[in-house]
Amino acid sequence: MSVNSASATFVDRHIGARRQADIDTMLKAVGYSTVDAMVDTAVPDSIRQAKPLALKDALSEVEVLAELRKLASKNKTAVQMIGQGYYDTVTPAVIRRNILEAPAWYTAYTPYQPEISQGRLEALLNFQTMVQDLVGLPIANASLLDEATAVAEAVLMMRRANKNKAAHDGKTVLDADVMPQTIAVVKGRAEALGFEVEVADLSQGLPEGVINGIVLQQPGVSGRVFDHADVIAAAKERGALVTVAADLLALTLITPPGEQGADIAVGSTQRFGVPLFFGGPHAAYMAVAKGLERSMPGRLVGVSKDDAGVPAYRLALQTREQHIRREKATSNICTAQALLAIVSSFYAVYHGPDGLKAIAETTHSHAATIAASLKAAGLDVLHTSFFDTVTVSVPGRAAALVAAAEAKGINLRPIDGDTVGLSADETTTPAIVAGVLGVFGAAAVDAAAGTDTEFALDTAVERSSEYLQHPVFNTHRSETQLLRYIRRLSDRDLALDRTMIPLGSCTMKLNATAEMEAISWPEFASIHPFAPDSQTVGWRELIADLEDQLTEITGYDQVSLQPNAGSQGELAGLLAIRGYHLSRGDDQRTFCLIPASAHGTNAASAVLAGMKVVVVATAADGSIDHADLNAKIEANKDVLSAIMITYPSTHGVYDADVTEICDAVHAAGGQVYVDGANLNALVGLAQPGKFGGDVSHLNLHKTFCIPHGGGGPGVGPVAAKAHLAPFMPGDANKAAHEAGHGVAISASNYGSAGVLPISWAYVKLMGAEGLTEATKSALLAANYVAARLNEYFPVLYTGEGGLVAHECILDLRELTAKTGVTAEDVAKRLIDYGFHAPTLAFPVAGTLMVEPTESEDLVEIDRFIDAMITIRKEIDQVANGDFTVENSPLRHAPHTASAVVSSDWNREYPREQAAFPVHHLKQDKYFPPVGRIDGAAGDRNLICSCPPLSEFED
Ligand SMILES: *Cc1c(COP(=O)(O)O)cnc(C)c1O
Repeated sequence: MSVNSASATFVDRHIGARRQADIDTMLKAVGYSTVDAMVDTAVPDSIRQAKPLALKDALSEVEVLAELRKLASKNKTAVQMIGQGYYDTVTPAVIRRNILEAPAWYTAYTPYQPEISQGRLEALLNFQTMVQDLVGLPIANASLLDEATAVAEAVLMMRRANKNKAAHDGKTVLDADVMPQTIAVVKGRAEALGFEVEVADLSQGLPEGVINGIVLQQPGVSGRVFDHADVIAAAKERGALVTVAADLLALTLITPPGEQGADIAVGSTQRFGVPLFFGGPHAAYMAVAKGLERSMPGRLVGVSKDDAGVPAYRLALQTREQHIRREKATSNICTAQALLAIVSSFYAVYHGPDGLKAIAETTHSHAATIAASLKAAGLDVLHTSFFDTVTVSVPGRAAALVAAAEAKGINLRPIDGDTVGLSADETTTPAIVAGVLGVFGAAAVDAAAGTDTEFALDTAVERSSEYLQHPVFNTHRSETQLLRYIRRLSDRDLALDRTMIPLGSCTMKLNATAEMEAISWPEFASIHPFAPDSQTVGWRELIADLEDQLTEITGYDQVSLQPNAGSQGELAGLLAIRGYHLSRGDDQRTFCLIPASAHGTNAASAVLAGMKVVVVATAADGSIDHADLNAKIEANKDVLSAIMITYPSTHGVYDADVTEICDAVHAAGGQVYVDGANLNALVGLAQPGKFGGDVSHLNLHKTFCIPHGGGGPGVGPVAAKAHLAPFMPGDANKAAHEAGHGVAISASNYGSAGVLPISWAYVKLMGAEGLTEATKSALLAANYVAARLNEYFPVLYTGEGGLVAHECILDLRELTAKTGVTAEDVAKRLIDYGFHAPTLAFPVAGTLMVEPTESEDLVEIDRFIDAMITIRKEIDQVANGDFTVENSPLRHAPHTASAVVSSDWNREYPREQAAFPVHHLKQDKYFPPVGRIDGAAGDRNLICSCPPLSEFED
């Protein structure tokens, strides 16, 4: 079959190498005559699934979009006045189309290679600056997963960072006006870690007892704005740290937490232009006082310099993070919410300080009108000082009023039988205000003009300080200029729309445009997570269907889509294991075996689940060291909770002994957690739920085509066998510990629901056969790369028949020892060839891990191989003494345009070699905007906000 025929299916477009001639070329290099023969050798019989996947037949793009339209039509949009942390907003069209829906932004990877990431790093630095200014604290990170988990991270950070001996071991106190979903998530985390959480009305002062830290919410879920100054001062007096969960839009009018003495501010940036998305993905933020930055979770963008002294951005203080610090990391978070943070930062760039303030004032004035009008109609409005949310007492009538509003297309928040909440937002209009007042039998009065100024914001909390004064928030006011700014930044970056991103373990495969189409349809995007069930029928049908498909694919019994990233799926899965042991009275089972080669999130998640990490050694061939494993099982058999293994292993090999390992752990009473990040090597061939796993997380942003967004969004579903089902994530917005559920892991029940149509569409477009072919094609591509490059860069680990799974580790260590050229030099030199580097130094230092994925065609894979071979020749030039490593094009890589045109070129290699080492680059050349960046210098002198523009002048 030819891909060029009119009948080419989606599978033909998703998989890169589909022409038989190309497949034959690749097979020949690998040494097999058919793909199946190669797959049969690589994948051990003992784990192969007996039957093909039972999924519905593949649909065409047209058919899938028609199905999605049908599902969308089963959802009902409404005026969303529920509030409770989620507010309707207008995503400016220029931002929606040119960022949220633009592949240059959404297909980018996390900016670990800063030289090809300057655009998104600048946008994230803008995000950090925006947060710092609005909350009044000096250092903000580049996003967290959602507000509830951000508060949980802040609580854990206070427990780490509080150095006051008397207060350190005290309880954590949450104000009663904190969002209920936040309280549920924090309590869930606290339970596993065994510290006390008390909920108290802090407007009445602090409770008795020793307090480690307090959490306030500004404004509270009731809408109330009260002056935190006294309670913050009292808390500090007693040695407690203070976190305030604050609404950024409100902070344009209200005194920021930093000015009131808070140590940490957290919150959601959703209402800065990110759709409701039925609960997520949205970027949370965290900002901290000086001195706390080294305890802060999440990624942090900082300013450093490149090798020519030019200011350049890169991720700062990475030694806090799980990929380096493992069980001692500040958090398990890896994938966060970069794309959504970027959208929010551009919302601030678009509106500027005056625009944001105007939106806030209008929002507040609508809320004031609602309050004044309800009061004039004789109703009891509970708080007089509020920003956007009015809480009204309606004894015995709450349900009836909420239903009457719903009938008029307006969603209110039913608080209890006697109380209703109404939240105004950017989209509120006088007509909406009139409509909602009508429900209460009230007529609109003009709150501002009338005598009733009772509902003006309390002057004690009125903001006097300036914010967003940096030029970036004040110069891109015309759409023409904004569009060019967006384009200028994305042009600085390499994303999947320009080059393969052969990152091992990260599965940077095609994010098809048709898969992306539905996410911004209003019937999916404009749904509040707490909307009544009658309005979310389509959403819940899509979610249930995706859960079913993932259950079938993984061989487990149940799937929860709630976790917002792989790390959160790990935590959810480990908490399920914990719940299971506790339910059997095995309270002492708290030890978790983790192979030395595991991803850093594994160890960090185990700690958060209250477990103790026991590291298992790696054998010389890369497999788990059986002698060490057996010794550690034996030594810990009474306290063994679980083992976390990755399959295929992080070494990119199908270890044949996996069932044996699972059996040994089970025999000792432990559970098996299979990290499913490498599921792209299993779909259709083997099922972790069948070959020994009790629970796994998957990464929908790897195997199931959700784009990486420059570091998020992600979805990390947790999949488990039936015996763990009662401990799967519960709904944070329902009563804590609903029967048959574990603790909540995210703020909203379906986590990052908004991006689930992408994975749903992928599975439907591929069907069982297409998915299985994708897996086989991924194996073929990886084995082709391994076979072609082995003589230049030895492949470190192989399995049966000398084959790898879906990725391969290229070992540079011997070349480094001989020539001084490092794996990092090769990674940076690849930029000069227009490539994003493979995974550097994970899981083995001094190596590169290559995962081409099924989506790359032979032309692109060969372009990569040719680049690598040419680089090998350059390494040989170092070995031969043509130039020293210090003076080589490898060490000087990447080369900027400014470096190669400089008149004082005095390098030991020609300019042509620097910029055009292979011929085709003469037409299609990517010049990085900066040269090699000195990360350490930036960490010594930490700058994490937009620098004055003068810094960027010569
Ligand atoms: C990506 C990855 C994770 C973590 O997933 P996130 O979504 O980034 O949190 C865990 N384990 C492995 C092996 C991975 O590759």
